[in-house]
Amino acid sequence: MSIYLIYYYYSNSQYFVNTSNIPIITSMQFKDTPYWSTLQPIIASGAMEAAINGNYHYPYRINLYPGTSCMFSCHFCNRNYDFVVRDSDNVFSQVIEQDDGSDKHRFGVTGGLEPLTSPYIGKICKDLHDGGYVSRLVTNGFLLNDKMLRKNPYINSLDNIRVSLYGMDHKETVATTKHAKGYEVVKQNLTNYNKRKDRTLLYLNYVLLSENIGKLNTILEYMIDIGGADSISLREDHSFRYNVDDRNKLQDALLKFDEKVKKYYRIKVDYGYGLQNAMNGLDVPLVQVTHKELNYTQAPQIKVCLDPHGDIFSYMDAGFVGRHGVKRYCLGNVTNSSLEEQLKKMRKIKPQKQDPAYLDAYNHLIQKYIHLNSK
Ligand code: SF4
Repeated sequence: MSIYLIYYYYSNSQYFVNTSNIPIITSMQFKDTPYWSTLQPIIASGAMEAAINGNYHYPYRINLYPGTSCMFSCHFCNRNYDFVVRDSDNVFSQVIEQDDGSDKHRFGVTGGLEPLTSPYIGKICKDLHDGGYVSRLVTNGFLLNDKMLRKNPYINSLDNIRVSLYGMDHKETVATTKHAKGYEVVKQNLTNYNKRKDRTLLYLNYVLLSENIGKLNTILEYMIDIGGADSISLREDHSFRYNVDDRNKLQDALLKFDEKVKKYYRIKVDYGYGLQNAMNGLDVPLVQVTHKELNYTQAPQIKVCLDPHGDIFSYMDAGFVGRHGVKRYCLGNVTNSSLEEQLKKMRKIKPQKQDPAYLDAYNHLIQKYIHLNSK
């Protein structure tokens, strides 16, 4: 028996109501939502219009996915746990060199798999530094140790390092990552990192799974234990698993947390779209699309990711090298070529039912916006 759910979206005293057994927002005015701060610069750059019209436009954002493996096996991760990249060339430096440098925020180093496993991580960071880019490294922190930083000093030339935390204690970390030493190693690495004179900005990110709502305050204790952080971001689990009861608990917990942070801590907390909505008491899941709302050209005009083999993807969760089924979404390969040359081919892929599983939260938002503005 299906459960009948009602989802509301509030905007300028109007309620858009979707009564459906599928929790999808069907109409919204983005200008009045937390999503607008993401969408507005993309629209201003001209990339959104090109994506809506299906015309070529050099990517507004490029995520480099240099990781060759990952030591964690997070239960919600979409990667192929058995896959390891061997003997790949450095496809990333070439792409940085081919960029015209007109947007210093174009590149991010993230995953895909864990970026610090790449033999080219030092060179990639140096190239970004030499090009004057303002880039971020997103890592699980397991390899962020003194040896790694001694060998690859340009990691600290990046604008910031964002460490994704998968647990606030040993038990939670093991339950999420299946790694027996994950909690202790990452915490020690971050404690040591904070003592370095050459450290760059350290951001902590914690994905709040529904079963951990009650433990929200522990992120503040963790931050103090490691000697501080420059920013904290909290994110909703993008597998969209919160039910209505969880959302009520979540709102209470977030409001109390926010009050405590403002009163006692001098740190910026970024709640992301989903948790901002939850704090405002809006029973809306993160924006998501079905395959019927996807277009044939995806949206490489807005963002692409690049895997260690040089394959280009617009759907961020298709960039997990070795993940089953991702070749279908590949938009080209930069080896002996360039992003521009490959993307100008404007590869068309007919959407299929399984496609949304390869989109991240950003992709869902962009595809929804394109769909609503393509009529
Ligand atoms: S979510 Fe990140 S850290 Fe966890 S298994 Fe996947 S790639 Fe590794």
